[in-house]
Amino acid sequence: MTNIPTPHIWLPYTQMRNALPPLRARKTTGSRIVLDDGRELIDAVSSWWTACHGYNHPHIVAAMERQLRDMPHVMFGGLIHEPAEQLAARLANVLPKGLEHVFFSDSGSVAVEVAMKMAVQFWTNQGDRDRTKFVSFQGGYHGDTLAAMSVCDPEEGMHALFKGYLPEQFVLDLPRDAESADKFREVLRSNRDQIAGIVIEPLVQCAGGMKIHTPETLRLVASAAADANVLLICDEVAVNFCRAGTMFAIEQAGIVPDIACLGKALTGGAIGLAATVATADVFNAFLSDDAQAALMHGPTFMGNPLACAAANASMDLFETEPRLAQVAVIESQLRRELEPLSGVAGVTDIRVKGAIGAIEVDELHSLDWLKTEFVNAGVWLRPFGNVIYTMPPFVITEGELSIITSAIAEILPRWSVRARR
Ligand code: PMP
Repeated sequence: MTNIPTPHIWLPYTQMRNALPPLRARKTTGSRIVLDDGRELIDAVSSWWTACHGYNHPHIVAAMERQLRDMPHVMFGGLIHEPAEQLAARLANVLPKGLEHVFFSDSGSVAVEVAMKMAVQFWTNQGDRDRTKFVSFQGGYHGDTLAAMSVCDPEEGMHALFKGYLPEQFVLDLPRDAESADKFREVLRSNRDQIAGIVIEPLVQCAGGMKIHTPETLRLVASAAADANVLLICDEVAVNFCRAGTMFAIEQAGIVPDIACLGKALTGGAIGLAATVATADVFNAFLSDDAQAALMHGPTFMGNPLACAAANASMDLFETEPRLAQVAVIESQLRRELEPLSGVAGVTDIRVKGAIGAIEVDELHSLDWLKTEFVNAGVWLRPFGNVIYTMPPFVITEGELSIITSAIAEILPRWSVRARR
C-alpha cells in the first residue's frame, strides 16, 4: 500500500510506502504552478532549476509549435538539421572562447557520462589506457547515472548503497587555501598516470547543499589540472545561463575547461536537452583513420529538433531580455530579505549567489511538515539535506519573491521552535 493515488507511478527519491501524497499540477504560467484544485503556487525552485524565463514563455512556445509541425524528431546519426546546427554555433559563440565542439544529449547526467567517456577515450586514443579515474569533490553532485554518481559526494551519491558497483574515484576536499592546495596538487601529481580528468561544479555545488566557492578556488583547480596534464570538466548543468550571476559560472574565474556540461535551463526549462562541449584539443584527439577512435556514444533522441528549437528560442531571450540584470536584482533582494534570518535558532549559515539563496540549518527535520507549510503559504519550495533554498525564475517579480522570502521568514522560526520542543 502507498499514499500515492495512482498506483502505477513510481516517484523520484521517494519512499513510496509513506510519502506525502504528491500534489497534482494542472498548468503553469509565469512563475506559477496551478494545481488541479485551483490553488496557485509560486515556484521558488523553477522546476528543479530549469524554468529560467518563467513557464510557458510565448516566444519558446511559438518556436516549439512551429518546430512540432515541421519535424518533432529525426535521428541524429547521419542526419543533421538546422535547429541543432544553429544551437551548436550559438553555444560555441556564447561560451568562453575555446569551447566549440558540441555533443548533444538528453539530460545533465548523460552530459556528464559523455564528458567522462570523452575524457577516458581522449587518453586511450593517444595510446594511454591507464587513465580511467577521476578526481571530484566532497559536496559535489553530477547526476544519478552510474559514472556520474561515482564522482558525486559519497553520501549524496549514495556510494555506500552501490559499493562494489560504482567505479572508485578520488573524491577530495575542495582546495581553499595554500595548504589544502598543496595537498590537492600532491594527490594529482602522485596519481596522474591513472587520472583522466577532474570533474567540478563551478562556483556553486548545488544539489550537495548550495555550497559556494570562490573564483580563486576554481582557478586553482584549473591550474592544478593543467600542471598535472589532466582534463578539466566543468559541470555547469545547474548554474549555466545566468543562475550564478554570469552567463556561465566559469566566466567569473576566467578559465576555459577542456570540457563543459550544459543542461537544465538550456531549453528555458521547456523540454529535456543537454550538451557536452569540448575544446579543439579534445575534439582533435578523436580524428583518426581508425573508426574505433570516434566518440562511442549516441543517445536515440540526441539533438532532438523540438528541444533544439526551444533552446534556440531560449538563447533569443537571453539576447533580448535583461536576464543578467534581473539576476542581479534577485541577488540583492535575496540578501536583503534572507540575511536577517541568520539569528533564528538552528540557522548555521545564509548563502546567496546570483539567483540562488540558501539557508543552512543544523538539522533538517520535519521535512514533510515544512513542505506542507510552504504549500499552505502558496509557495512551492523543496528543502533537502540541511538547506532551505530558493532558485526562482529570473522573471519573478519583486512582490512574488517577497512572498517566498516572507514565507521562509514566517515558517522558519516556527520550524525552529517545533524542533526544540
Ligand atoms: N549536474 C549537476 C550539477 C546537476 O545539478 C544535475 C541535476 N541536479 C545533474 C548534473 C544531472 O542532471 P539531470 O537531472 O538532468 O540528469
